Amino acid sequence: MSPSTEHGRPEPEPTTLPANRDGRPVSDRGDTVCVIGAGASGLTAVKNLTEHGFGVDCYERETGVGGGWNWRHDRSPVYASTHLISSRPFTQFPDFPMPDSWPDYPHHSQLLSYFERYADHFDLRRHIWFGTEVVRVEPVDGDRWDVTTRSTGGYGPERTSRYAAVLVANGHNWSPKLPRYEGLEEFRGEVMHASSYKDPAQLRGKRVLVVGAGNTGCDLAVEAAQQASRCWHSTRRGYWYAPKYVLGRPADQVNDALLALRVPLRLRQWLYHWTLRLTVGDLTRFGLPKPDHRVYETHPIANSQLVYYVGHGEITPVPELARFHPGGVTLTDGREIDPELVVFATGYLPRFEFLDPGVLGDADGSGRPRLWLHAFPPGHPTLAVAGLLQPDSGLFTLAHWQSVLFARSLLLRREQPQRAAAFASRAVSGAGERYAGKVKDSSRHWFEVGHVDYLRAVQRALDELEGK
Ligand SMILES: Cc1cc2nc3c(=O)[nH]c(=O)nc-3n(C[C@H](O)[C@H](O)[C@H](O)COP(=O)(O)OP(=O)(O)OC[C@H]3O[C@@H](n4cnc5c(N)ncnc54)[C@H](O)[C@@H]3O)c2cc1C
Repeated sequence: MSPSTEHGRPEPEPTTLPANRDGRPVSDRGDTVCVIGAGASGLTAVKNLTEHGFGVDCYERETGVGGGWNWRHDRSPVYASTHLISSRPFTQFPDFPMPDSWPDYPHHSQLLSYFERYADHFDLRRHIWFGTEVVRVEPVDGDRWDVTTRSTGGYGPERTSRYAAVLVANGHNWSPKLPRYEGLEEFRGEVMHASSYKDPAQLRGKRVLVVGAGNTGCDLAVEAAQQASRCWHSTRRGYWYAPKYVLGRPADQVNDALLALRVPLRLRQWLYHWTLRLTVGDLTRFGLPKPDHRVYETHPIANSQLVYYVGHGEITPVPELARFHPGGVTLTDGREIDPELVVFATGYLPRFEFLDPGVLGDADGSGRPRLWLHAFPPGHPTLAVAGLLQPDSGLFTLAHWQSVLFARSLLLRREQPQRAAAFASRAVSGAGERYAGKVKDSSRHWFEVGHVDYLRAVQRALDELEGK
């Protein structure tokens, strides 16, 4: 695999290969690498691959950069009041800081402008085919890939191009995960997934039931507390609601300082409990269920307002839903409630419709890929997935280093194929490895990582590549 001669430009000019198995011509993109998606993970991949000398074609189904943070996109999960949950310095790319004048937790519109500036600064747009959706990615000739695209919405003919490598950065926060309930079809009220929630006007004056205690569920319960005539918040279990600030600093920065000092988990858990005791105290006094797990055993919820609104009677915590009936909902404790609107903030599932599930190690068809470093599929050294992570920090730094590792592994394949083969075997032995402590076993935590442990593992892999 040879990097392009002119910095970042695809090289060589496409030639046409014999037709693929569907009888369509295949355009040979030579040593070019294909990137799928131009959100945070795809943009940083385009930047890092071109910086390592590769030609790159990036396909993006939408008409702009920014992925989920671009509110104009069909599948964007952001709503009017979305701000970062992770703080600014713990979210930004390592080589492109957000402006110092921005708040600790910028608004989603600032995130979009950040991605636009990133794309302009590194001149990434010339590599991106906007309005172009990838519909199939198939392995050919051992380690090359046929990528079939069409214009978004299915207009025009499909085109197939052959690439030396593919990096998938299609995001995992756009395909709603919806629970099933007896009687839901007969329910006369309105039902929506949080992905369709955009504006407080959707809640105003209504009796609203919010289901789910992830960060989005808690945000929506707080919005409903201010907008709706009534708000119930249903959670499956009790959770620890961390404040966004501790000692006047964003909470993730305090946690990171403790991690950097290698403070043992037990001591961090004790400090966390102690902080909560000093602030909100005993959650059960507010009618919230007692957490059935220790802190750091579920994805952290950062919300300073939820307990406040429960304390003001604007949010009524309720247990899981048992069943729906035409006029309302029966809860598992037998109570009946009569919401007009039910919002399922029940998360998202990853989807890779363009790939055979087996390629990503999803042997049992559960939809859960089994990858080394949550990025590298066993047996396919020229394929990687970026951004398939649920970190206890911001994502962008982690996605940045994933694509640096991929770019360097591709260079090693060209320069030292034997060592590259040894490195590729790590994807087999390391598939499914975890980088988070003990977390609850649910699809919500499939991609949970502690950012310090994760970055250390990536650093070890980079050292291995360089023969250190
Ligand atoms: C409410 C909410 C709050 C969040 N807060 C934070 C936070 O505080 N900090 C943080 O780090 N993360 C946060 N996240 C996680 C967020 O997903 C990441 O920050 C980031 O958007 C992930 O970037 P990505 O590029 O991996 O995926 P995405 O942003 O989803 O981008 C994927 C891109 O791929 C494109 N694509 C998908 N399929 C195809 C295809 N077949 N062909 C062509 N293009 C395709 C999509 O159009 C999209 O542009 C939050 C998520 C949500 C929902």
